[in-house]
Amino acid sequence: MILGAGAAGLLCAIEAGKRGRRVAVLERADRIGKKILISGGGRCNFTNIHCRPENFISANEHFAKSALARYTPADFITLVEKHRISYHEKTLGQLFCDRSAEDITNMLETECRGAGVQIFLSCRIHEVQRTTGFIVRTEAAEFHAPALAVATGGLSIPKMGATAFGYDVARQFGLNIVATKPGLVPFLLGGNDYQRYSDLAGVSTEVVASANHHAFREKMLITHRGLSGPVILQVSSYWDKGQPIHIDLAPDRQVTALIRAAKVRNIGAARLAFQGILPKRFAERWLEANAPANWTNEALIELEKRTHAWVLTPAGTEGYEKAEVTAGGVDTNELSSKTMESKKVRGLFFIGEVVDVTGHLGGFNFQWAWASGAAAGRAL
Ligand SMILES: Cc1cc2nc3c(=O)[nH]c(=O)nc-3n(C[C@H](O)[C@H](O)[C@H](O)COP(=O)(O)OP(=O)(O)OC[C@H]3O[C@@H](n4cnc5c(N)ncnc54)[C@H](O)[C@@H]3O)c2cc1C
Repeated sequence: MILGAGAAGLLCAIEAGKRGRRVAVLERADRIGKKILISGGGRCNFTNIHCRPENFISANEHFAKSALARYTPADFITLVEKHRISYHEKTLGQLFCDRSAEDITNMLETECRGAGVQIFLSCRIHEVQRTTGFIVRTEAAEFHAPALAVATGGLSIPKMGATAFGYDVARQFGLNIVATKPGLVPFLLGGNDYQRYSDLAGVSTEVVASANHHAFREKMLITHRGLSGPVILQVSSYWDKGQPIHIDLAPDRQVTALIRAAKVRNIGAARLAFQGILPKRFAERWLEANAPANWTNEALIELEKRTHAWVLTPAGTEGYEKAEVTAGGVDTNELSSKTMESKKVRGLFFIGEVVDVTGHLGGFNFQWAWASGAAAGRAL
């Protein structure tokens, strides 16, 4: 019995069904894979060909390795190609459907059917109980099974029905939870930073941003509430409230050399120097706040330094409403890394986002869902 017909639950069901297990998937929503459908802007970034253990965050950095090695991006691509789904690499190894994310949910549904998996939609689960096996009581029926996989996802996007259900089941059976927080989420700016930059909403530039000693180089986007864009989403998963983030606004570039070489060192020369490095409106605003009072060599060294090390402390994040994932979750010390089975409760498995394994942006969260689902599906 599998709770949740999302990415992890469906892959688990397919693998278990192919091994001849009788599988039931209970899903709260009225259709399967709702998050898959909205993922990747509707095109589902279903995996990343450069998937490595370093692309995952967990209190135990080694935990994900085994499952990731035994169900790889190539395995999922084989499935996608078997169903003749056309796809493309967008950037940095990220694979997207050419047509629609629906191709992926249709594929998973067809595979489930082929493996004899029964899917029950609109199931409200009231209770999970353990006797010799597991009993799950819903509004309409009672299900009995010797093994139970919890694949109910994290807390992100409550509007789509995300609940704490998986964590509650883990607690019910005495499993530890690593504190959860929104991951892959935009930052909110406060105070002076908000006043200074929020009206530049829509401006975007490539930067190197880092939090907690983890750095990424991608686009940053200014929003009307703070900062977003891929680079910000990436560092947000490493950020804790109250910590600063560091941003190099001109990676690999020497900004002040042109000012130094100008006939007259002044704000006009500085604007020229920033041209082509920062978008015009952002450069103006940056200089308003950081241009030196005099243009001595020391002052230029300071301006160069600041441009490569903008330190700011976000006021917070946009929370689970806007987070692509939930960081933290069921403590990996509680689970077998090979099968995802609880070490304390035989027959109880946790897979996908509910586990304390969080992928970077770029198809890694689905790859974890497929890989952990497959690991459990081969052991159920
Ligand atoms: C907007 C957005 C875009 C994203 N884009 C990408 C992307 O392009 N690439 C990528 O790798 N990752 C992406 N992600 C992250 C990815 O969607 C998740 O990491 C992944 O779906 C997790 O899979 P899962 O099976 O663990 O959980 P989910 O896919 O969330 O599935 C959980 C399922 O359990 C069901 N459920 C919940 N509670 C109950 C209950 N009490 N009883 C029964 N069923 C229940 C839910 O309805 C849901 O169907 C995106 C996330 C968001 C929010």
